[in-house]
Amino acid sequence: MADTPMLKFVSLEQAYPAKRPASERTDDFGEISPSYAVTGAEEQASRCSQCGVPYCSTHCPLHNHIPDWLRLTAEGRLREAYELSNATSTMPEICGRICPQDRLCEGNCVIEFAGHGAVTIGSVEKFITDTAWKEGWVEPLRPVRDRSAQSVGVIGAGPAGLTAAELMRRQGYEVHVYDRHDRAGGLLTYGIPGFKLEKHVVMRRVDRLKEGGVVFHESFEVGKDATLAELRQRHDALVIATGVYKPRAIKAPGVGAPGVVEALDYLTASNRKGFGDAVAAFDDGTLDAAGKNVVVIGGGDTAMDCVRTAIRQGASSVKCLYRRDRANMPGSQREVNNAEEEGVEFVWLSAPEAFDGTETVAGVRVAKMRLGAPDASGRRAPEADPGSEFRLEADLVIKALGFDAEDLPHLFGSPDLSVTRWGTLRVDHKTMQTSVDGVFAAGDIVRGASLVVWAVRDGRDVAERMHAYLKAKAVPTQAAAA
Ligand SMILES: Cc1cc2nc3c(=O)[nH]c(=O)nc-3n(C[C@H](O)[C@H](O)[C@H](O)COP(=O)(O)OP(=O)(O)OC[C@H]3O[C@@H](n4cnc5c(N)ncnc54)[C@H](O)[C@@H]3O)c2cc1C
Ligand code: SF4
Repeated sequence: MADTPMLKFVSLEQAYPAKRPASERTDDFGEISPSYAVTGAEEQASRCSQCGVPYCSTHCPLHNHIPDWLRLTAEGRLREAYELSNATSTMPEICGRICPQDRLCEGNCVIEFAGHGAVTIGSVEKFITDTAWKEGWVEPLRPVRDRSAQSVGVIGAGPAGLTAAELMRRQGYEVHVYDRHDRAGGLLTYGIPGFKLEKHVVMRRVDRLKEGGVVFHESFEVGKDATLAELRQRHDALVIATGVYKPRAIKAPGVGAPGVVEALDYLTASNRKGFGDAVAAFDDGTLDAAGKNVVVIGGGDTAMDCVRTAIRQGASSVKCLYRRDRANMPGSQREVNNAEEEGVEFVWLSAPEAFDGTETVAGVRVAKMRLGAPDASGRRAPEADPGSEFRLEADLVIKALGFDAEDLPHLFGSPDLSVTRWGTLRVDHKTMQTSVDGVFAAGDIVRGASLVVWAVRDGRDVAERMHAYLKAKAVPTQAAAA
């Protein structure tokens, strides 16, 4: 590799795009780091050692061609880099922003293991696709041929549904997307805050699908506005990509008090305000952390997003209670660091025992925990440490303990829809079909709460399976054209 610009990891230090200072970034909901400048991206890409067996790629759920587009970036061939990264992902700039790279590609980069600091893969991915949008290289969505005699219904406009919709439309099918929210994007729009993912980045993807002929039915709730069977009648195939939305409960006295709220209600209200919407429960103060002592309960991505949102809303204090320690939390360490820089206090090894207050919540009584033997997930199980209770002042408590599947067979009026013991949809893993013929499923509603990149992967896989199913069903003249 005599004339290669690569393998610079020995002489060139790892450099992520600089974060804005915490005191500045907590004044707004904008992303915390700007993109690289061109030279920064090219230099950082040139640190890659072009591994024969690229662990970055094997640990990426999409198996993105990471070393290849890093090399193209280092060579200044940005358009080709974009095209290659776009070939395996429907939303590389979104994954570049919010994938937990420290657990996926970057966490498995050989340079990281060698002690040089991983190649900054996510930041380069974000840079090349943002550049493609700026330069007009992102092509409109165009069907490769006309298969519009057959139509597909997609229930849920999150990353799994949007990916399936894009790829099926590209195949030429008529595609209809149904979502109970008034805007598409799923948790990209209403869950994840703007400081991780600015909303115009999501909306330009949705607009591209609309302009490409995908028909969106917003504020359409399956189960209320139509049953599953009715939609099945309208379309030749359906995919259910409704995510998981039943919040896990806390069983503790006082948990029903006003001021103890659900994480997703809180985050959705904040994201809606970012769009400029009127939100009664925010505007009357219920879901606004301004001037309050806030306690967030949980240690995952959702909890991290809540604490950092509360800081930006001007809370007096923000504490995060988590029953395990830092090393055993499910959320990304990168997010914990960001939160700490912004003024969040983590109270590790603590669990709520009761909520007190008369009219509204006034405090949380907390038990100290200690870690016992590892549980089924491999993480050490917490157990209460008797006699160690203490109290925290709180005017707003946000419950962020994770989500389970809603009861879809009941909600959709479809008792024949088979579910697992966790309530997620049971699918045949080869065909990705549910127990109902022609009804497929993808994303969190199959996996349980997971990641955006896995939803994209499922959307890609389900589109391939639906295409095969529809080709087999097509009338002979269409099948011949396929
Ligand atoms: C607060 C929060 C932060 C997160 N942060 C990250 C992160 O930083 N990185 C990461 O990789 N992952 C993150 N995740 C996880 C990630 O957002 C999900 O794994 C991903 O969005 C799942 O995609 P999906 O398409 O399966 O479902 P969703 O994104 O949940 O979309 C499902 C859609 O279905 C719609 N729907 C549901 N029921 C119906 C119905 N009956 N009728 C019509 N429409 C319906 C919903 O309105 C929604 O729009 C986060 C999750 C949360 C909650
Ligand atoms: S593992 Fe790291 S060094 Fe190896 S190809 Fe991937 S990014 Fe490059």
